[in-house]
Amino acid sequence: MSIDGMIRTVDNGITIYSWRVFEPWKDRIKVGITGRNGGFSAPPLHSLNLGHLVDDEPSSLERNRAVVAATLGVPEAPWAVANQVHGTRIGLVNHKPDAPFDSCDVLYVSEKGVIAAILLADCLPVVIYDPHRHRGIICHAGWRGTAAGIAEVAVKYLVNDGSRIENLFAATGPGIGSCCYPVEKEVALTLRDSFDYQENVILNDGKDGYRLNLEEANLVRLRASGLREENLGGAGFCTACRQDEFFSYRKERGLTGRHAALMVLF
Ligand SMILES: [Zn+2]
Repeated sequence: MSIDGMIRTVDNGITIYSWRVFEPWKDRIKVGITGRNGGFSAPPLHSLNLGHLVDDEPSSLERNRAVVAATLGVPEAPWAVANQVHGTRIGLVNHKPDAPFDSCDVLYVSEKGVIAAILLADCLPVVIYDPHRHRGIICHAGWRGTAAGIAEVAVKYLVNDGSRIENLFAATGPGIGSCCYPVEKEVALTLRDSFDYQENVILNDGKDGYRLNLEEANLVRLRASGLREENLGGAGFCTACRQDEFFSYRKERGLTGRHAALMVLF
């Protein structure tokens, strides 16, 4: 089923949303974002929590990972999970990991058969894939990562690693939308000053103050990095508005689980 810029697939009782832009390579790469339903975690983490740093029962997290891995078609695969810090450091998934990647908000994936996971609850995923070299990157882009240019950091890494910019495909979202994301003036100005500001990234309606459109901000930054417009995709909806489908840190005042942006190479 279609949902804005994404395709929604329900399997094993869980939902995975994948980006249209990566559809041509769906047999070589599984890339998507999990929904929150169909898992085993109790409230307030109900129910497909994939966050290992929230207060969940280890057995629930294990069962949640198992159903996701089975749905991706890699039931025995190791997980490469980032311990995120709102920075731009890159963890290299070029081996079978046996521990989380510390202080990383970007995972570069070149190893086949590993589930690379960035954990999210309102923050935005940015995903990039080079089908010619068969490797990709997933990023955790909250406002801090976006202001620090995490999308450009990821593109530069791939290009320095040998990718041609015209061969890169990328997608953003879903994350919290401008509808649900009022911020302090200081945050808005920090983001504005961090890049070639465009009007639709920061809204100021004069009533609620400033609101951020993180998806548009990251698309602007991907375009500025040289990615072709026809190679870009987005989600186009808001995780806080769809709290029944996704975990929302803001809507649930921090007491919530984490969904994940996932990448597996075959
Ligand atoms: Zn919203």
